[in-house]
Amino acid sequence: MTPATITLKPGKDQSLRRRHPWVFSGAIARLQGEVVEGEAVTVLAHTGEVLGVGHYAPGSIAVRMLDFGPDAQLPEAAFWEEKLRNAYQLRQGLALTGQGNTNVYRLAHAEGDGLPGLIIDVYGDVAVVQAHSAGMYRARPHIAAALQAVVPGLRAVYDKSAETVPAKAAPGAQNGYLFGESSGQEHIVHENGHRFVIDWETGQKTGFFIDQRDNRSLLARYAPGRRVLNTFCYTGGFSVYALEAGAELVHSVDSSKKAIELTERNAALTPHADRHEAYAQDVFSFLKDRHNQYDLIVLDPPAFAKHLSARHNALMGYKRLNVAGIKQIAPGGLLFTFSCSQVVSMELFEGAIMAAAIEAGRPARILHRLTQPADHPVSLFHPEGEYLKGLVLAVE
Ligand code: SAH
Repeated sequence: MTPATITLKPGKDQSLRRRHPWVFSGAIARLQGEVVEGEAVTVLAHTGEVLGVGHYAPGSIAVRMLDFGPDAQLPEAAFWEEKLRNAYQLRQGLALTGQGNTNVYRLAHAEGDGLPGLIIDVYGDVAVVQAHSAGMYRARPHIAAALQAVVPGLRAVYDKSAETVPAKAAPGAQNGYLFGESSGQEHIVHENGHRFVIDWETGQKTGFFIDQRDNRSLLARYAPGRRVLNTFCYTGGFSVYALEAGAELVHSVDSSKKAIELTERNAALTPHADRHEAYAQDVFSFLKDRHNQYDLIVLDPPAFAKHLSARHNALMGYKRLNVAGIKQIAPGGLLFTFSCSQVVSMELFEGAIMAAAIEAGRPARILHRLTQPADHPVSLFHPEGEYLKGLVLAVE
């Protein structure tokens, strides 16, 4: 069967020629042939020249590109294996695939790996797949087979797409194993030699926030002897690093009881759990009456803005949170503050944090500007892929 084709309006081929991976619906002159959401289409310039192949979806982003150029092929088994092999080799070269003291890593970071709509996180011998598009959802059997071919020693592949795939494209989608099964035992991974229990079946997102790995290492450098507060702690990533590095005490806060249980479990895997306390509480209420008792505070909230329309309110939210946080830092202390909202640029984030320091009446200096680690690469042609921003401030 010949695939459907999409022909672009004149002039709308430029971004694709620069390898930006999205075709917006407004750029389309006509669609020829039959295509359902998630199937592959060939994209043509208005002259008829083939520009590439991508997954079709009837929304504002109409095509997510998988391959560019006149020789672009429809994605068959070999395509998935090649893409995932490239992705694996990159992580192997970064010493993340278990040869050193880390065996938890992001194997596929959507556009950053030429796979728009696909996230794959690897936890030792288990891979967790999250499809954010109908196209990737339909491709799961190919993806699971390619993973088995590419990742040595893989025991299971879990599909965690039910919350992320567009509901209309996959009504009634259920999470479950594409290959292998649960071992029925606690699953422990290593990150920079620190141990963490991962629960991909019931945890948030794919089960662990791998994107803070490098920033946790930086925190470990500054944690010795300090009183540390880790807010929005989820599984306690920053808390474990701080404890192992020799923090005087570590307090962890998250509104989710399940997150606090995970944090306590992970702290118990260190020999320093006696210096740790965890609170299942709203961060804003927790921060109200702490009286400058911390030397280092981490503020790592969930994305406050998921869309451009929410950006203004998100900036106000970051400011309000950071005012509350900065006020609780002892003079000379450090603030590690983050935004994982893709639509909030570093410049806007810095502006919000500056406004917070002014309102809190505490002069502050920027020591570090932080971002996501190398296994969350950003395509030069898709700068939107840089979503994590962080600042380390010295607060007077
Ligand atoms: N810092 C974590 C990831 C944070 S994810 C890490 O390194 O792994 C965001 C967390 O914020 C979630 O666990 C969620 O339960 C929690 N959360 C969201 N809103 C909150 C609130 N108002 N108060 C406390 N925790 C909150």
